Amino acid sequence: MLTGMQIAVIGGDARQLEIIRKLTELDAKLSLIGFEQLEHAFTGAAKEKVEELDFSAQDALILPVPGTSLEGQVETIFSSEKVVVTQEMVEKTPPHCIIYSGISNAYLTGITQQAKRQLVLLFERDDVAIYNSIPTVEGTIMMAIQHTDFTIHGSRVAVLGLGRVGVSVARTFHALGAKVSVGARKSEHLARITEMSLRPFRLDDLPIIVRDMDIIINTIPHPVVTASVISKMPSHTLIIDLASKPGGTDFRYAEKRGVKALLAPGLPGIVAPKTAGKILANVLAQLIGEEFSLRKGNG
Ligand code: NAP
Repeated sequence: MLTGMQIAVIGGDARQLEIIRKLTELDAKLSLIGFEQLEHAFTGAAKEKVEELDFSAQDALILPVPGTSLEGQVETIFSSEKVVVTQEMVEKTPPHCIIYSGISNAYLTGITQQAKRQLVLLFERDDVAIYNSIPTVEGTIMMAIQHTDFTIHGSRVAVLGLGRVGVSVARTFHALGAKVSVGARKSEHLARITEMSLRPFRLDDLPIIVRDMDIIINTIPHPVVTASVISKMPSHTLIIDLASKPGGTDFRYAEKRGVKALLAPGLPGIVAPKTAGKILANVLAQLIGEEFSLRKGNG
């Protein structure tokens, strides 16, 4: 239980509602900033304005998945008010206060470092990335179905990258009956692809491999699906680029060539916001719980 913990949830989308639900269930006391248009009320959670928040009383600040903008602004789907998190606010928090975010940027990293507060990035955690790969794959299947006139079963699919998303994508498309090839640069990845009963290829061979592929699914956040690779693809090939913006595809050239290429960021939040929220809520509850027990033990 988190009885006695005071936590501020600052901005966010539907995923944050699962976090609020979980933390109030665990008896934490919550201040909700940027939620005034949310009709639902949670017992133990009070809607407040950022300028009214007592930062000195907070044990944790929870920011939305994207963190802040480079100007410190926080996304607020349930509010029309502008919410900005400043270094001054973070400095007012007690030294033990931890700031949780999905990802960071120079601004957020800078203000937390200057204020000497710990910043925990949930999306850098393997557990979150692996859990999140489940709704990501489901979203990818949805896109493949929506944008092709053939079945996934029997189609030739190339997955680029064997990271946390690549493994899940390759395994699921294989299970759906696709003929899956996976491109990687490390020999241990090529070995693993073979062990998974999939066809391995070196990324250097991508221009040859794509000659007879129906779907290319990229998970590599690096320009790999270049103009020269796209020029070798049949015109019916569908490219689904899952890598973080700007993706790894030359979209300008794909459009010129008439090859359909889709950048598909943030699929968990789009196809399964409840699940995506629960993933974050469970990990956050565990992390905050561990921190709380540690402090109680020390105090
Ligand atoms: P990951 O575990 O770090 O895997 C990344 C893969 O890319 C690894 O196989 C890595 O291979 C490879 N790679 C990286 N740089 C490369 C380069 N320059 N050349 C060749 N290979 C390279 O990351 P992940 O968790 O799978 O996520 C993959 C991407 O998807 C990220 O950009 C992430 O933000 C994004 N993502 C998108 C969604 C969505 O909804 N679209 C959801 C979740 C994640 P090595 O091991 O050889 O470096």
